[in-house]
Amino acid sequence: MQQDCDALIAGAGPAGLALAIALADAGFTSTVLDAQPRETLAAPAEDGRDIALTHSSVATLRALGLWQRLLPEEIGCIREARVFDGDRQASALNFSPRGHRTGILGWIVPNHALRRVSFAAAVERPGLRLIDRAQVIRIGTEPHRVQVDFETAPGMQQQLHGRLFVAADSRFSWSRKQLGIAADMHDFGRVMIVCRMQHERPHDDVAYECFGYERTLAVLPAVGNVSSVVVTADAPAAQQLLALPESEFATLVERQFRRRLGPMRLLGPRFPYPLVAAYARRFVAERSALVGDAAVGMHPVTAHGYNLGLQSVASLVHALCAARAAGQDIGSAEVLAGYERAHRRDAAPIYHGTNAVARLYASTGAPQRLARQLLLRGAQYLPPLKAAITARLTGRGGLQLPGAAL
Ligand SMILES: Cc1cc2nc3c(=O)[nH]c(=O)nc-3n(C[C@H](O)[C@H](O)[C@H](O)COP(=O)(O)OP(=O)(O)OC[C@H]3O[C@@H](n4cnc5c(N)ncnc54)[C@H](O)[C@@H]3O)c2cc1C
Repeated sequence: MQQDCDALIAGAGPAGLALAIALADAGFTSTVLDAQPRETLAAPAEDGRDIALTHSSVATLRALGLWQRLLPEEIGCIREARVFDGDRQASALNFSPRGHRTGILGWIVPNHALRRVSFAAAVERPGLRLIDRAQVIRIGTEPHRVQVDFETAPGMQQQLHGRLFVAADSRFSWSRKQLGIAADMHDFGRVMIVCRMQHERPHDDVAYECFGYERTLAVLPAVGNVSSVVVTADAPAAQQLLALPESEFATLVERQFRRRLGPMRLLGPRFPYPLVAAYARRFVAERSALVGDAAVGMHPVTAHGYNLGLQSVASLVHALCAARAAGQDIGSAEVLAGYERAHRRDAAPIYHGTNAVARLYASTGAPQRLARQLLLRGAQYLPPLKAAITARLTGRGGLQLPGAAL
């Protein structure tokens, strides 16, 4: 039966593009459809998000040729992380990559830079086609192929066929709904405000997480005397924080941060992100799979959304390469069931664990305060627990894309 390509992918975000690049490098053809215009995808606007990356993710980005395209001033590194609870001056929990040869816990890169290099690398790959301004309007699955109808302008309908359809169109995925896959959505009723701030003293590559009782503050080291600042508060308080004049906002952050880095000032706009997590009930349907946030949209507190998205890409490409080697149809239920199992194993503990942490730190009741202290003390003094968290960050035992493919 005539196919236009192996995989039709909805969404040219960081997950959809990473998948298309990995598929191209493995010898599969794909077409990526995105609603945004090409110019926006090629030069994405700053969105305030700084993405903390594990060693495993950086290995994947290197294998895809994306890491090499980032500018040196876009790559910050984290050598140590300190967690503070409530009003206490001393940190309750510290992480350092002791024993890891690089001395680095993880890296930090702006989201718009990741999007830019993903687009640049994707459009150079043979066998990869990108269609912009494309609104998917229908996904039809048949026993031997999948058909996608889309519009690039009102009344300009087109149709493509492939062996597999992949939804990578965000945590609010339209495609996921069309495939009949329900998702558990959790609205935390809180808003994360992200921005960049300059400070007088160097951060020495230390990341700080300060769990206050009203607001949570994270200060993550960027390049130079600049940090990515993340303030989480309930929705009405976040509105007030966004309305504050720049200098008052900076003073408030500085005070909650106890002037550890000296005076601070805002370097650009503050971007609000309402916190809604999503977990698809299934990661596959007939001839279709979900990757990235369309499969699992994480609460950002543990900084794992994109890292997990790259893992979903690695697991799917792995399953497809194995299927091809065994002479199987890459869109068959059996092949996709293998991907579903692998990704659920990776995603379930981190998703549910993150939500539990987010709920605990959003509560101000006395039992929750005590639970927080016990949890942090437990993690500090239980070497296996701390080692497990550090290993997750440094990515030991992390997934790699199939060697044969890259
Ligand atoms: C404040 C914040 C901080 C974060 N920090 C971290 C971190 O430190 N570490 C980490 O690992 N992750 C982090 N994340 C998560 C990370 O940003 C996401 O996991 C990642 O961007 C998801 O990529 P994606 O490609 O799945 O989806 P998206 O980035 O949402 O991209 C989806 C794409 O699909 C397109 N699209 C949407 N609908 C359609 C449609 N109907 N048809 C065609 N195209 C469509 C969109 O135009 C877009 O290009 C953070 C998130 C937030 C909000």
